[in-house]
Amino acid sequence: MAELAELLRGMLAPLKVEYRTGCLNHAAVGGFDRHLVRLVEQALSAAPDGHPAVEHLQRMRAIFEGYGSLNLAERAKRLREVKRRLDAVLAETPPATARLEPVVLPPVPARPEPARADVPKPRPEAPRRPVSPADLDRPVQYLRGVGPQRARLLERLGIETVGDLLGHFPRRHEDRSHILRLADASTELLATYQGVVRSVEEIKPRRGGLKLLKAYVTDGTGGIDLVWFNQPWLRDQLPLHQPVIFSGRVQLDRYGRLQIVQPTWEPLEADGESIHTGRLVPIYPLTEGLPQTTLRRWIKSALDEFVELLPEVIPARVREEWELVGRRQAVRSFHFPESDEACLLARRRLVFEEFFGLQVALAQRRQEYDARGRGIAFKTDSPLADRLLDSLPFELTGAQHKVIAEIRADLAQPRPMNRLIQGDVGSGKTLVALVAMLTVADNGHQAAVMVPTELLAEQHFRVIRHWCEPLGVKVDLLTGRAGTKQRRASLASLSSGETRIAVGTHALIQEGVDFDQLGLVVVDEQHRFGVVQRKLLTGKGVTPDVLVMTATPIPRTLALTVYGELDTSVIDELPRGRIPVATEWYPLGRRRELYSRIKELLREGRQCYVVCPLVEESEALEDVEAATAMSEHLREHFKQFEVGLIHGRLKPDEKDEVMRRFRAGELDILAATTVIEVGIDVPNATVMLIVNADRFGLAQLHQLRGRVGRGAHESWCFLLTDARYGPDLVDDESGLQYRDARARMRFMVTYSDGFKLAEADLDLRGPGELGGTRQSGSMDFRVANLARDGKLLEQAREAAQELVARDPRLESPEHLSLARFVGHRFRERGQLAEVG
Ligand code: ADP
Ligand code: MG
Repeated sequence: MAELAELLRGMLAPLKVEYRTGCLNHAAVGGFDRHLVRLVEQALSAAPDGHPAVEHLQRMRAIFEGYGSLNLAERAKRLREVKRRLDAVLAETPPATARLEPVVLPPVPARPEPARADVPKPRPEAPRRPVSPADLDRPVQYLRGVGPQRARLLERLGIETVGDLLGHFPRRHEDRSHILRLADASTELLATYQGVVRSVEEIKPRRGGLKLLKAYVTDGTGGIDLVWFNQPWLRDQLPLHQPVIFSGRVQLDRYGRLQIVQPTWEPLEADGESIHTGRLVPIYPLTEGLPQTTLRRWIKSALDEFVELLPEVIPARVREEWELVGRRQAVRSFHFPESDEACLLARRRLVFEEFFGLQVALAQRRQEYDARGRGIAFKTDSPLADRLLDSLPFELTGAQHKVIAEIRADLAQPRPMNRLIQGDVGSGKTLVALVAMLTVADNGHQAAVMVPTELLAEQHFRVIRHWCEPLGVKVDLLTGRAGTKQRRASLASLSSGETRIAVGTHALIQEGVDFDQLGLVVVDEQHRFGVVQRKLLTGKGVTPDVLVMTATPIPRTLALTVYGELDTSVIDELPRGRIPVATEWYPLGRRRELYSRIKELLREGRQCYVVCPLVEESEALEDVEAATAMSEHLREHFKQFEVGLIHGRLKPDEKDEVMRRFRAGELDILAATTVIEVGIDVPNATVMLIVNADRFGLAQLHQLRGRVGRGAHESWCFLLTDARYGPDLVDDESGLQYRDARARMRFMVTYSDGFKLAEADLDLRGPGELGGTRQSGSMDFRVANLARDGKLLEQAREAAQELVARDPRLESPEHLSLARFVGHRFRERGQLAEVG
């Protein structure tokens, strides 16, 4: 039985890796599927007859036997099923008893780390009980006081093992080394106090007002009211007659009584050792049902028992050169710093560690990529491109010239190009890419442009054909919508080489799509494609050059992390004469006023988009419903105008018809889901109304705004936001959401430059929210902050490149634990940016 649990648990790691690396069946040598079939069979033979695991295991075996022939989406689905089944079985299978007993080993001597004068020495305290290094991988439930039930809470935070718990770092620290007496409460400072809760009362609002919860707290020197809005559940959490610790800025209410509105607080528990107060106190990210004090206690005890087991991952040489403290010390000290300085040093080390690991992975990728073989060295003087440029009715911008030169240099190299072009909406990326495509065509090769939606594909097709037809270059469109006959003709023309440029959606990467000589792959709006899809497309040629285009500007720090091994070009200049879109912010209460503004503009003959995004997934049903409801609402309020509706769930010909009518000016207003974020270009549509604008990140708002401002008329973007920016949106710590939404609106109104906005966004929300950039979802830095740690990132990158140049495969013995660390946490992330 014990053995069974062990075997089952052994499947978790390869599963995770396979899932994270995109279900490519590569997660184990010799094939992930075969490896798993073996593991399942071992488990089956260890399971007693009639054990509940047997049925699950048989199903798993069937899944892995057929795994290789599934498509990627189905593989992912099956892996999730397997994970559910494994969890179910593990819940019923007691772990090996041997693991429950403390393994008796001689105490692990704390390996001394290079002592530094300016850092407090680690406490010499030996672990309270002997532990073996494998215990870092112990399920966290075996930590004292946790147990299976509460382990589930931790799981929601992504914490499964003791090691994970050590890596669950505080969001910030609160200085509770000085606790003020209430008698000394000052309205000047953000300060910490403690006292006993004497009463808690709920105050019913006057009509329309907010529900108040008020707690009265005294500390023997004075008393104070703590006030919360609209958080009635706190009533049951505030411990009557018990001590609490709280901080905030003291105010006087209108009767002159002391109060703190929305304080940070927690119960003060008698803990023996004071980890909750009287020091710099870590404030952790929490999940519902898990109190700050409890988590803090668990982390403290995990540190006491296990921190000495953490392997150092940064080679000594690098640590010395960049003056980094040791890992154990950093982890200990970042959780429970002895001083501000110790905290900073610890943080510096941990941030460096994260950046370093990722940059090593990226540097390795790049090396592999460069080593992978020769690409095509194109001749770059191209009569076709010259004729295109001569025929333009406008001058290229300086930035366009610069980027074209960079691309030409790449094309001429035998090393395959792997370049990212960033440029704001309307900066003229398409034209730049077209120059590259024509150059490749002149060399007798083909080019393929892959875009995420059919609307966008059709639009690119129209534009590219418009420029290419006079040059006698054949352009074709490949989407899922073509009829059989047309498709067959397209495929034939493509494989014969007659079609020089193919524009399309995912349809391009399907089986049966063959090129004669694919020399260049252009991927637009790349954040919507996975690595796998790009790979499939490039696989249709022999090491073709790759150009990735994005209109989501990315600050340099993020570019270095996400696209660390792509060369980057930036078109940082808009064509002359573009009038920036005027942006205005209206709260819901001023809707009527806004509507009459829009009506005026419509009467002048302009057209308007109305987008009401609710859900980030742009084709979610909720969005479709919201857009539908919005179109009804608009028909009521804009009676004398024609209102149309478009969303991704319409049939293709319905979509075409709506778009045709809008383009022809038969519709004045187009209500839409975020499908229009990419790809609609109607110059007469000069008004963009974004409803619920507060729900979206700056990058996405900016993208939406980019749909207008494409013609000669002045354009407008109106942001309509929920007026209930009330305290119900205020998060308990510091009102972040509230401030955040307002800040975003203000940024939108102030800046029209996408790069400025991207930096602001990064600063406000962190990379995870960067406007739907999918791959940024993986930027789960635990400590590093891309907006603020740019300098450390550059340093870590330099260190990583140096190290990888010396030891590309991390084979030398002093790089062993680094190699393991990189493999664990960063290797798959490196792949996210990989294009070849
Ligand atoms: P992006 O793809 O970067 O959003 P596009 O390539 O679609 O931008 O260009 C937007 C519009 O500007 C197109 O109509 C294009 O023809 C035009 N354009 C491109 N470059 C210039 C330029 N240098 N001067 C004026 N107009 C330009
Ligand atoms: Mg474009």
